[in-house]
Amino acid sequence: MSSVRLMDYEPIVGAQTLEELYLLAEGLRERKIKMVNSTAVGGGVAEILSRLVPLLNELGVSTQWEVIKGGEDFFEVTKKIHNALHGEQLSLTPRMKEVFLEVNRENLRNTNFDQDVVVIHDPQPIAYIEMRDRTQAKWVWRCHIDISNPNEEVWEFLKGYVEKYDVALFSSPRFSKRLPIPQFLFFPSIDPLSDKNRELEPEFIDQVLERLHIPRDKPIITQISRFDRLKDPIGVIKAYRMTKRYIDCQLVLAGGGASDDPEGEAVLSEARNEAEGDPDIHILLLPPTSSLEINALQRASSIILQKSIREGFGLTVSEALWKKKPVIGSAVGGIPAQIIPKFTGALVYSIEGAAYQIRYLLSHPEVAKKLGEYGHEFVKEEFLITRNLRRYLLLFHVLSHPGERIIFL
Ligand code: UDP
Repeated sequence: MSSVRLMDYEPIVGAQTLEELYLLAEGLRERKIKMVNSTAVGGGVAEILSRLVPLLNELGVSTQWEVIKGGEDFFEVTKKIHNALHGEQLSLTPRMKEVFLEVNRENLRNTNFDQDVVVIHDPQPIAYIEMRDRTQAKWVWRCHIDISNPNEEVWEFLKGYVEKYDVALFSSPRFSKRLPIPQFLFFPSIDPLSDKNRELEPEFIDQVLERLHIPRDKPIITQISRFDRLKDPIGVIKAYRMTKRYIDCQLVLAGGGASDDPEGEAVLSEARNEAEGDPDIHILLLPPTSSLEINALQRASSIILQKSIREGFGLTVSEALWKKKPVIGSAVGGIPAQIIPKFTGALVYSIEGAAYQIRYLLSHPEVAKKLGEYGHEFVKEEFLITRNLRRYLLLFHVLSHPGERIIFL
């Protein structure tokens, strides 16, 4: 993967798209950028940064990626904050705030900020902004989370930090908030050349499925997600069961944990209990290095589900659409930005709705095929990494010309 160069994207996105990126990067050659998030592997943010950062560097925009380090107690607090931003009840105790701030401050002791732009991803390292006055940098808060309906107390706590940033980036217009700073809409992206998304030989796909003991004799319905209640694995199993009464099929629930998520194990065992006794349900706990396996599973599936209860963006949706798969997704978070009903997929609001759509698409393969094909074109237009790079380059230009309405490059 590391040998992939920007020019390798030309057959996919065209020469003009790349020329534009080089042009935009030219004026940023002297700039230094730092990105900070909370995990190097697992989850969508790490997935994006692991490609975005090398490509920015290749374009000559010197970009460093750092991960905030914390213990179990820190990630327990940040997971609670994460869930509360999705609307769960939480009263932030003084102790929780203390753990949260202590780890942020401890990390700051070993970090330099001589960059021009610092991009902080999500709430975990949000308090890095306390350094702001001791730096020359512009500070960006990139929020990947669905905060359309947050627990107010927790949002108020975080807002105190967000307001100190220069700009905030959100994955959907629905997530924007009343803030005294400019806000930009930034869709995340997938990399068509990564192991997760590149073309695979049919023989390789067969081998992976064989290795994972998944037979190919019945249609496969798949959800790839961390084992997290907000991804609703139990709801997925229930929807599959409703379908199964009419159409013989199998279900794959595959995912690993992220190092910043302490709840994964409990959710995995809940899913295993729910699935017990049905040999057509395959629950796979994948190690973090499973990109090729995930790619193969997505390609071998008849339908991909993303039945999240809340979702930041849902990269798995774009990944599946890129593979021309029909996708059924919940109408939450950034999923409706990717699924245009009856055009690039199906949006659902309930377990019953998901079951209905699975049954409909399994029995109308010609419709399913069209949805996948349109979906692929839509992803190419909006959600590829080259598009994301362009957004970041434009943002860096905007930040280096504060107050200017027209920027001459
Ligand atoms: N993913 C993975 N291994 C897993 C589960 C998910 O590599 O076991 C990947 C998945 O393919 C996608 C990303 O992690 O690229 C998940 O991003 P998404 O936006 O769907 O959800 P998040 O985990 O960020 O909530």
